[in-house]
Amino acid sequence: MGLLDSIIEGYTGLPLWAHRLAFGGCMLVVMALSLMPAEVPMPSTGWDKSNHFLAFFVLTLLGGVAYPGRTALVLTGLLAYGALIEVLQSFTPSRSAEWGDLLADAVGLLLGWMVLQLVRMQAQMVDLKRSDITQMVCPQCHNGTEMHYGKQDMTITHGAMARQVFAVSGWHCPVCKECVFDLGEGIRCVETLEAMILDSVPDKSLRSA
Ligand SMILES: [Zn+2]
Repeated sequence: MGLLDSIIEGYTGLPLWAHRLAFGGCMLVVMALSLMPAEVPMPSTGWDKSNHFLAFFVLTLLGGVAYPGRTALVLTGLLAYGALIEVLQSFTPSRSAEWGDLLADAVGLLLGWMVLQLVRMQAQMVDLKRSDITQMVCPQCHNGTEMHYGKQDMTITHGAMARQVFAVSGWHCPVCKECVFDLGEGIRCVETLEAMILDSVPDKSLRSA
């Protein structure tokens, strides 16, 4: 497991109130940094637009984790918050409201949202792997026949031809030989079948290279 995965898992493992506290705190910090006089030295990426981008990228990640399932609300809320910051900046003597800033906020929101989607998809895949199904009933037999999990050689037939595919991982039916494949295993059987179909074509010129 990489360092980033550890950080993500560690952070997402915190209770919800901690996420909301971090999100709210970060929102206040962004507001404070935005309204401070330009002369005050403050943490910066060196370019105003990338400051906006980074701030709203991080806010989106924190908000998405703090309010799971309410991503649309978090995104629209943060965009409104960005607009509010610009409006408030127009009242300060040394800062000003800019459409470009709001655009940089929006780009940060969008990228943050994409990262959230990716992390969620990955988490779902890990959940799938972890879900330990302990039994499965054959979908083809329809009579409650229990399938066995493991690796079994399978015989693929096409007309009079038959070929073996070795150690196919998944759930196997002892009665009808139906298989519920593990991820990526079905393709091996499909490839074998395809090869047999090609070999059965009598005219060799019809075979693809
Ligand atoms: Zn069966």
